[in-house]
Amino acid sequence: MHTELSAAHAQSSGAQRAKAIIGSCVHCGFCLATCPTYQLLGNELDSPRGRIYLIKQMLEGAPASRVTVTHLDRCLTCRACETTCPSGVQYGQLVDIGRQMVEARHIRNAGERLVRSALGAALSQRAVFAAALRVGQWLRPLLPIAQAARIPTRLRTGPTLPMRHARRMIMLQGCVQPALAPNINAAAARVFDRLGVSLLTVQGEACCGALSHHLGGTARALQQARRNIDAWTGLLDTGVEAIIMTASGCGVMVKDYGELLHHDPRYAARAERVSAAARDLCEVLSVADVAAIVGSKTRERGARVAWQSPCTLQHGQKLTGRVEPLLEAAGFSITAVREPHLCCGSAGTYSILQRELSERLRSAKLYTLQEGAPEVIATANIGCLQHLAAAADVAVKHWIELIDEASAT
Ligand code: SF4
Ligand code: SF4
Repeated sequence: MHTELSAAHAQSSGAQRAKAIIGSCVHCGFCLATCPTYQLLGNELDSPRGRIYLIKQMLEGAPASRVTVTHLDRCLTCRACETTCPSGVQYGQLVDIGRQMVEARHIRNAGERLVRSALGAALSQRAVFAAALRVGQWLRPLLPIAQAARIPTRLRTGPTLPMRHARRMIMLQGCVQPALAPNINAAAARVFDRLGVSLLTVQGEACCGALSHHLGGTARALQQARRNIDAWTGLLDTGVEAIIMTASGCGVMVKDYGELLHHDPRYAARAERVSAAARDLCEVLSVADVAAIVGSKTRERGARVAWQSPCTLQHGQKLTGRVEPLLEAAGFSITAVREPHLCCGSAGTYSILQRELSERLRSAKLYTLQEGAPEVIATANIGCLQHLAAAADVAVKHWIELIDEASAT
Protein backbone atom coordinates (compact mmCIF):
# COMPACT_ATOMS: atom_id res chain seq x y z
CA MET A 1 0.00 0.00 0.00
CA HIS A 2 1.62 3.28 -1.11
CA THR A 3 1.54 6.41 1.09
CA GLU A 4 2.27 9.91 -0.24
CA LEU A 5 3.57 11.78 2.82
CA SER A 6 2.21 15.33 3.15
CA ALA A 7 4.73 18.19 3.27
CA ALA A 8 4.14 18.46 7.03
CA HIS A 9 5.27 14.83 7.53
CA ALA A 10 7.91 14.43 4.81
CA GLN A 11 10.88 15.03 7.14
CA SER A 12 9.56 13.12 10.15
CA SER A 13 11.40 9.88 10.91
CA GLY A 14 8.26 8.48 12.56
CA ALA A 15 6.18 9.24 9.46
CA GLN A 16 8.80 7.63 7.22
CA ARG A 17 8.81 4.53 9.42
CA ALA A 18 4.99 4.45 9.29
CA LYS A 19 5.08 4.76 5.49
CA ALA A 20 7.46 1.79 5.26
CA ILE A 21 5.24 -0.33 7.54
CA ILE A 22 2.11 0.54 5.56
CA GLY A 23 4.05 -0.31 2.38
CA SER A 24 4.30 -3.94 3.53
CA CYS A 25 0.49 -4.33 3.81
CA VAL A 26 -1.06 -6.10 0.80
CA HIS A 27 -4.75 -5.50 1.77
CA CYS A 28 -5.40 -9.25 2.08
CA GLY A 29 -7.61 -8.90 5.17
CA PHE A 30 -6.41 -12.09 6.87
CA CYS A 31 -5.90 -10.03 10.04
CA LEU A 32 -9.62 -9.25 10.32
CA ALA A 33 -10.41 -12.80 11.44
CA THR A 34 -8.26 -12.56 14.58
CA CYS A 35 -8.94 -8.94 15.58
CA PRO A 36 -11.05 -8.86 18.78
CA THR A 37 -12.60 -5.44 18.08
CA TYR A 38 -13.58 -6.41 14.53
CA GLN A 39 -15.11 -9.62 15.87
CA LEU A 40 -17.17 -7.62 18.38
CA LEU A 41 -18.15 -4.62 16.26
CA GLY A 42 -17.99 -5.87 12.65
CA ASN A 43 -16.85 -2.46 11.36
CA GLU A 44 -13.85 -2.39 8.98
CA LEU A 45 -12.64 0.75 10.75
CA ASP A 46 -12.35 -1.35 13.94
CA SER A 47 -10.06 -3.81 12.15
CA PRO A 48 -6.28 -3.64 11.61
CA ARG A 49 -6.71 -2.92 7.89
CA GLY A 50 -9.21 -0.12 8.59
CA ARG A 51 -6.92 1.46 11.17
CA ILE A 52 -3.99 1.25 8.75
CA TYR A 53 -6.07 3.26 6.24
CA LEU A 54 -6.90 5.86 8.90
CA ILE A 55 -3.22 6.32 9.78
CA LYS A 56 -2.30 6.49 6.08
CA GLN A 57 -4.86 9.28 5.61
CA MET A 58 -3.31 11.27 8.49
CA LEU A 59 0.16 10.82 6.97
CA GLU A 60 -1.18 12.15 3.67
CA GLY A 61 -2.48 15.31 5.34
CA ALA A 62 -5.98 14.49 6.61
CA PRO A 63 -6.81 15.88 10.06
CA ALA A 64 -6.92 13.61 13.12
CA SER A 65 -10.71 13.55 13.04
CA ARG A 66 -13.02 12.31 15.78
CA VAL A 67 -13.66 9.18 13.67
CA THR A 68 -9.93 8.44 13.44
CA VAL A 69 -9.40 8.96 17.16
CA THR A 70 -12.40 6.77 18.09
CA HIS A 71 -11.22 3.80 16.04
CA LEU A 72 -7.56 4.09 17.11
CA ASP A 73 -8.66 4.35 20.76
CA ARG A 74 -10.68 1.14 20.41
CA CYS A 75 -7.57 -0.80 19.33
CA LEU A 76 -6.29 -2.93 22.22
CA THR A 77 -2.69 -3.00 20.89
CA CYS A 78 -3.01 -6.75 21.44
CA ARG A 79 -1.05 -7.41 18.20
CA ALA A 80 -3.03 -10.55 17.34
CA CYS A 81 -3.06 -9.06 13.82
CA GLU A 82 0.76 -9.19 13.70
CA THR A 83 0.74 -12.88 14.51
CA THR A 84 -1.77 -13.53 11.71
CA CYS A 85 -0.36 -11.22 9.03
CA PRO A 86 1.41 -13.13 6.23
CA SER A 87 3.28 -9.99 5.13
CA GLY A 88 4.90 -9.22 8.49
CA VAL A 89 3.21 -5.83 8.93
CA GLN A 90 4.50 -4.36 12.20
CA TYR A 91 1.14 -3.03 13.27
CA GLY A 92 2.11 -2.37 16.92
CA GLN A 93 4.79 0.14 15.91
CA LEU A 94 2.42 1.70 13.38
CA VAL A 95 -0.43 2.28 15.80
CA ASP A 96 1.98 3.80 18.34
CA ILE A 97 3.09 6.30 15.67
CA GLY A 98 -0.57 6.96 14.77
CA ARG A 99 -1.37 7.66 18.41
CA GLN A 100 1.58 10.04 18.75
CA MET A 101 0.21 11.96 15.73
CA VAL A 102 -3.22 12.16 17.36
CA GLU A 103 -1.81 13.42 20.67
CA ALA A 104 0.44 15.97 18.90
CA ARG A 105 -2.59 17.50 17.18
CA HIS A 106 -4.50 18.10 20.44
CA ILE A 107 -7.72 16.68 19.09
CA ARG A 108 -8.98 15.59 22.51
CA ASN A 109 -11.13 17.76 24.74
CA ALA A 110 -9.76 19.00 28.05
CA GLY A 111 -11.55 16.31 30.12
CA GLU A 112 -10.09 13.43 28.07
CA ARG A 113 -6.61 14.94 28.19
CA LEU A 114 -6.83 15.30 31.95
CA VAL A 115 -7.97 11.68 32.49
CA ARG A 116 -5.28 10.26 30.20
CA SER A 117 -2.56 12.38 31.70
CA ALA A 118 -3.65 11.49 35.27
CA LEU A 119 -3.69 7.76 34.41
CA GLY A 120 -0.22 7.95 32.86
CA ALA A 121 1.14 9.75 35.93
CA ALA A 122 -0.64 7.83 38.71
CA LEU A 123 -0.32 4.29 37.36
CA SER A 124 3.31 4.58 36.35
CA GLN A 125 4.60 5.88 39.69
CA ARG A 126 4.88 3.08 42.22
CA ALA A 127 4.65 5.22 45.37
CA VAL A 128 1.70 7.28 44.11
CA PHE A 129 -0.22 4.20 43.01
CA ALA A 130 0.51 2.33 46.26
CA ALA A 131 -0.71 5.29 48.36
CA ALA A 132 -3.89 5.66 46.28
CA LEU A 133 -4.59 1.92 46.53
CA ARG A 134 -4.10 1.97 50.29
CA VAL A 135 -6.65 4.80 50.63
CA GLY A 136 -9.09 2.81 48.46
CA GLN A 137 -8.59 -0.28 50.64
CA TRP A 138 -9.34 1.74 53.81
CA LEU A 139 -12.52 3.12 52.22
CA ARG A 140 -13.59 -0.24 50.77
CA PRO A 141 -16.11 -1.12 53.54
CA LEU A 142 -17.91 2.19 52.94
CA LEU A 143 -18.29 1.81 49.16
CA PRO A 144 -21.21 0.27 47.19
CA ILE A 145 -20.60 -3.44 46.46
CA ALA A 146 -19.91 -2.95 42.71
CA GLN A 147 -17.22 -0.33 43.37
CA ALA A 148 -15.72 -2.18 46.33
CA ALA A 149 -15.28 -5.27 44.13
CA ARG A 150 -12.97 -3.28 41.85
CA ILE A 151 -10.53 -2.56 44.69
CA PRO A 152 -8.30 -5.56 45.48
CA THR A 153 -7.78 -6.51 49.11
CA ARG A 154 -4.30 -6.39 50.67
CA LEU A 155 -2.32 -9.56 50.03
CA ARG A 156 0.49 -11.26 51.89
CA THR A 157 3.80 -11.95 50.20
CA GLY A 158 5.28 -14.84 52.17
CA PRO A 159 8.92 -14.83 53.31
CA THR A 160 11.53 -12.64 51.56
CA LEU A 161 15.10 -13.77 51.05
CA PRO A 162 18.65 -12.50 51.52
CA MET A 163 20.89 -12.05 48.44
CA ARG A 164 23.03 -15.12 49.08
CA HIS A 165 23.98 -16.54 45.68
CA ALA A 166 26.89 -15.70 43.37
CA ARG A 167 24.56 -16.01 40.38
CA ARG A 168 22.44 -12.86 40.15
CA MET A 169 19.75 -11.46 37.89
CA ILE A 170 17.90 -8.14 38.06
CA MET A 171 14.12 -8.30 38.57
CA LEU A 172 12.08 -5.30 37.39
CA GLN A 173 9.67 -4.57 40.25
CA GLY A 174 7.01 -2.87 38.13
CA CYS A 175 4.76 0.06 39.00
CA VAL A 176 1.33 -1.33 39.98
CA GLN A 177 2.30 -4.96 40.62
CA PRO A 178 4.14 -4.51 43.98
CA ALA A 179 1.01 -2.89 45.47
CA LEU A 180 -1.65 -5.05 43.76
CA ALA A 181 -0.01 -8.48 43.91
CA PRO A 182 3.23 -8.35 45.93
CA ASN A 183 3.42 -12.14 46.09
CA ILE A 184 4.33 -12.42 42.39
CA ASN A 185 7.81 -10.93 42.68
CA ALA A 186 8.30 -12.64 46.06
CA ALA A 187 7.35 -16.01 44.52
CA ALA A 188 9.77 -15.45 41.62
CA ALA A 189 12.57 -14.66 44.07
CA ARG A 190 11.88 -17.85 46.06
CA VAL A 191 11.79 -20.06 42.95
CA PHE A 192 15.09 -18.63 41.66
CA ASP A 193 16.64 -18.88 45.12
CA ARG A 194 15.89 -22.62 45.09
CA LEU A 195 17.79 -22.76 41.80
CA GLY A 196 20.80 -20.93 43.23
CA VAL A 197 20.08 -17.51 41.69
CA SER A 198 19.44 -14.29 43.65
CA LEU A 199 17.06 -11.78 42.07
CA LEU A 200 18.14 -8.18 42.69
CA THR A 201 15.70 -5.30 43.03
CA VAL A 202 17.30 -2.02 41.98
CA GLN A 203 16.72 1.34 43.67
CA GLY A 204 16.08 4.18 41.24
CA GLU A 205 14.34 2.19 38.52
CA ALA A 206 11.07 3.52 37.09
CA CYS A 207 7.96 2.13 35.42
CA CYS A 208 8.97 0.35 32.21
CA GLY A 209 7.11 3.09 30.27
CA ALA A 210 4.46 0.92 28.61
CA LEU A 211 1.46 2.67 30.17
CA SER A 212 2.57 6.13 29.00
CA HIS A 213 3.73 4.84 25.62
CA HIS A 214 0.35 3.32 24.73
CA LEU A 215 -1.45 6.47 25.84
CA GLY A 216 0.60 8.43 23.28
CA GLY A 217 2.86 9.92 26.02
CA THR A 218 6.10 9.09 24.26
CA ALA A 219 8.25 11.73 26.00
CA ARG A 220 7.34 10.41 29.46
CA ALA A 221 7.83 6.78 28.33
CA LEU A 222 11.32 7.51 26.96
CA GLN A 223 12.24 9.37 30.14
CA GLN A 224 11.27 6.27 32.15
CA ALA A 225 13.22 4.01 29.77
CA ARG A 226 16.35 6.18 30.18
CA ARG A 227 16.03 6.05 33.97
CA ASN A 228 15.89 2.26 33.91
CA ILE A 229 18.86 2.04 31.56
CA ASP A 230 20.84 4.26 33.95
CA ALA A 231 19.81 2.07 36.89
CA TRP A 232 20.62 -1.28 35.25
CA THR A 233 23.62 -0.98 32.96
CA GLY A 234 26.15 -0.58 35.79
CA LEU A 235 24.94 -3.87 37.26
CA LEU A 236 25.22 -5.65 33.91
CA ASP A 237 28.93 -4.68 34.04
CA THR A 238 29.30 -6.57 37.32
CA GLY A 239 28.22 -9.92 35.90
CA VAL A 240 24.45 -9.83 36.39
CA GLU A 241 23.15 -12.43 33.94
CA ALA A 242 19.79 -11.05 32.81
CA ILE A 243 16.98 -8.60 33.52
CA ILE A 244 13.91 -10.63 34.48
CA MET A 245 10.35 -9.46 33.86
CA THR A 246 7.52 -10.96 35.92
CA ALA A 247 4.90 -9.03 33.90
CA SER A 248 4.81 -9.77 30.17
CA GLY A 249 3.53 -6.23 29.50
CA CYS A 250 6.80 -4.85 30.92
CA GLY A 251 8.86 -7.42 29.03
CA VAL A 252 7.59 -6.42 25.62
CA MET A 253 8.32 -2.76 26.40
CA VAL A 254 11.86 -3.29 27.74
CA LYS A 255 12.71 -5.50 24.76
CA ASP A 256 11.75 -2.48 22.61
CA TYR A 257 14.08 0.03 24.33
CA GLY A 258 16.73 -0.48 21.64
CA GLU A 259 14.27 0.39 18.87
CA LEU A 260 12.66 3.27 20.75
CA LEU A 261 15.99 4.95 21.60
CA HIS A 262 17.97 4.18 18.43
CA HIS A 263 17.90 7.90 17.53
CA ASP A 264 19.40 8.97 20.90
CA PRO A 265 23.21 9.01 20.65
CA ARG A 266 23.64 8.98 24.46
CA TYR A 267 21.42 5.98 25.04
CA ALA A 268 21.20 3.94 21.81
CA ALA A 269 23.99 1.45 22.58
CA ARG A 270 23.00 0.96 26.24
CA ALA A 271 19.33 0.63 25.27
CA GLU A 272 20.26 -2.18 22.86
CA ARG A 273 22.24 -3.88 25.61
CA VAL A 274 19.35 -3.68 28.09
CA SER A 275 16.89 -5.02 25.51
CA ALA A 276 19.22 -7.90 24.71
CA ALA A 277 19.45 -8.80 28.44
CA ALA A 278 15.67 -8.64 29.05
CA ARG A 279 13.93 -11.98 29.57
CA ASP A 280 10.48 -13.12 30.54
CA LEU A 281 10.51 -15.62 33.42
CA CYS A 282 9.49 -18.40 31.04
CA GLU A 283 12.62 -17.83 28.93
CA VAL A 284 14.90 -18.40 31.92
CA LEU A 285 13.24 -21.31 33.73
CA SER A 286 13.47 -24.70 32.05
CA VAL A 287 11.43 -27.87 32.52
CA ALA A 288 14.52 -29.46 34.09
CA ASP A 289 14.78 -26.55 36.58
CA VAL A 290 11.15 -26.97 37.63
CA ALA A 291 11.45 -30.75 37.88
CA ALA A 292 14.57 -30.32 40.04
CA ILE A 293 12.95 -28.00 42.59
CA VAL A 294 9.58 -29.77 42.71
CA GLY A 295 11.16 -33.24 42.91
CA SER A 296 9.01 -36.06 44.28
CA LYS A 297 6.24 -33.63 45.30
CA THR A 298 5.03 -33.60 41.66
CA ARG A 299 2.76 -36.59 42.17
CA GLU A 300 0.99 -34.93 45.10
CA ARG A 301 -0.29 -32.04 42.98
CA GLY A 302 -2.42 -32.24 39.89
CA ALA A 303 -4.70 -29.19 40.18
CA ARG A 304 -6.42 -28.34 36.90
CA VAL A 305 -5.08 -25.08 35.48
CA ALA A 306 -6.51 -22.99 32.62
CA TRP A 307 -3.64 -21.08 31.01
CA GLN A 308 -4.35 -17.57 29.73
CA SER A 309 -1.49 -16.40 27.56
CA PRO A 310 -1.36 -12.58 27.67
CA CYS A 311 -1.17 -10.81 24.30
CA THR A 312 2.09 -9.22 25.39
CA LEU A 313 3.56 -12.71 25.83
CA GLN A 314 2.18 -14.55 22.77
CA HIS A 315 1.87 -11.73 20.20
CA GLY A 316 4.25 -9.08 21.60
CA GLN A 317 7.16 -11.35 22.61
CA LYS A 318 6.22 -14.33 20.40
CA LEU A 319 6.56 -16.65 23.40
CA THR A 320 3.92 -19.31 22.82
CA GLY A 321 3.77 -22.75 24.40
CA ARG A 322 6.52 -21.96 26.94
CA VAL A 323 4.63 -21.84 30.24
CA GLU A 324 2.40 -24.90 29.88
CA PRO A 325 5.30 -27.43 30.00
CA LEU A 326 6.66 -25.71 33.11
CA LEU A 327 3.31 -26.04 34.89
CA GLU A 328 3.05 -29.68 33.78
CA ALA A 329 6.55 -30.34 35.09
CA ALA A 330 5.32 -29.06 38.44
CA GLY A 331 2.44 -31.57 38.37
CA PHE A 332 -0.44 -29.38 37.20
CA SER A 333 -2.74 -30.50 34.41
CA ILE A 334 -3.61 -27.93 31.73
CA THR A 335 -7.22 -27.68 30.58
CA ALA A 336 -8.08 -27.04 26.91
CA VAL A 337 -8.95 -23.39 26.11
CA ARG A 338 -10.55 -22.34 22.81
CA GLU A 339 -9.43 -19.20 20.91
CA PRO A 340 -6.33 -18.65 23.04
CA HIS A 341 -5.16 -15.86 20.69
CA LEU A 342 -7.96 -13.47 21.75
CA CYS A 343 -7.35 -10.62 24.20
CA CYS A 344 -9.05 -10.66 27.64
CA GLY A 345 -9.81 -6.92 27.35
CA SER A 346 -7.38 -5.68 30.00
CA ALA A 347 -4.79 -4.04 27.71
CA GLY A 348 -3.22 -1.54 30.12
CA THR A 349 -5.63 1.35 30.63
CA TYR A 350 -8.15 -0.05 28.10
CA SER A 351 -10.27 -1.55 30.89
CA ILE A 352 -10.68 1.98 32.29
CA LEU A 353 -10.95 3.99 29.05
CA GLN A 354 -13.04 1.48 27.01
CA ARG A 355 -14.95 -0.21 29.79
CA GLU A 356 -17.86 -1.66 27.84
CA LEU A 357 -15.73 -3.32 25.16
CA SER A 358 -13.27 -4.47 27.79
CA GLU A 359 -15.99 -6.17 29.84
CA ARG A 360 -17.45 -7.90 26.78
CA LEU A 361 -14.02 -9.28 25.92
CA ARG A 362 -13.50 -10.41 29.52
CA SER A 363 -16.84 -12.26 29.59
CA ALA A 364 -15.93 -14.10 26.38
CA LYS A 365 -12.43 -14.92 27.65
CA LEU A 366 -13.66 -16.18 31.02
CA TYR A 367 -16.24 -18.37 29.30
CA THR A 368 -13.55 -20.14 27.26
CA LEU A 369 -11.12 -20.29 30.20
CA GLN A 370 -13.70 -21.85 32.53
CA GLU A 371 -15.20 -24.32 30.03
CA GLY A 372 -12.72 -27.00 31.13
CA ALA A 373 -13.70 -26.63 34.84
CA PRO A 374 -10.25 -25.47 36.06
CA GLU A 375 -9.48 -25.02 39.75
CA VAL A 376 -7.30 -22.02 39.00
CA ILE A 377 -6.55 -19.72 36.05
CA ALA A 378 -2.87 -18.91 35.46
CA THR A 379 -1.56 -15.88 33.59
CA ALA A 380 1.71 -13.95 33.15
CA ASN A 381 0.68 -10.32 33.38
CA ILE A 382 -0.63 -8.26 36.30
CA GLY A 383 -3.15 -6.34 34.17
CA CYS A 384 -4.79 -9.54 32.87
CA LEU A 385 -4.68 -11.06 36.36
CA GLN A 386 -6.56 -8.18 38.01
CA HIS A 387 -9.00 -7.81 35.15
CA LEU A 388 -9.93 -11.51 35.05
CA ALA A 389 -9.91 -11.97 38.85
CA ALA A 390 -12.61 -9.30 39.23
CA ALA A 391 -15.14 -11.55 37.45
CA ALA A 392 -13.76 -15.12 37.52
CA ASP A 393 -15.42 -17.98 39.43
CA VAL A 394 -12.01 -19.43 40.41
CA ALA A 395 -8.75 -17.94 41.67
CA VAL A 396 -6.50 -16.21 39.11
CA LYS A 397 -2.76 -16.36 39.81
CA HIS A 398 0.55 -15.67 38.12
CA TRP A 399 2.00 -18.99 36.95
CA ILE A 400 5.19 -18.42 38.96
CA GLU A 401 3.06 -18.44 42.13
CA LEU A 402 1.90 -21.96 41.21
CA ILE A 403 5.50 -23.10 40.63
CA ASP A 404 6.44 -21.54 43.97
CA GLU A 405 3.61 -23.36 45.79
CA ALA A 406 4.51 -26.66 44.13
CA SER A 407 8.20 -26.35 45.01
CA ALA A 408 7.85 -25.01 48.57
CA THR A 409 9.41 -27.26 51.21
S1 SF4 B 1 -3.78 -4.76 17.83
FE1 SF4 B 1 -5.51 -6.15 18.33
S2 SF4 B 1 -7.32 -4.80 18.47
FE2 SF4 B 1 -5.69 -3.62 17.43
S3 SF4 B 1 -6.03 -3.94 15.26
FE3 SF4 B 1 -4.56 -5.52 15.88
S4 SF4 B 1 -5.80 -7.33 16.42
FE4 SF4 B 1 -7.20 -5.54 16.33
S1 SF4 C 1 -3.07 -9.42 7.17
FE1 SF4 C 1 -1.32 -8.00 7.01
S2 SF4 C 1 -1.12 -7.59 4.82
FE2 SF4 C 1 -3.17 -8.46 5.10
S3 SF4 C 1 -4.51 -6.63 5.40
FE3 SF4 C 1 -3.89 -7.32 7.45
S4 SF4 C 1 -2.05 -6.07 7.91
FE4 SF4 C 1 -2.39 -5.94 5.66
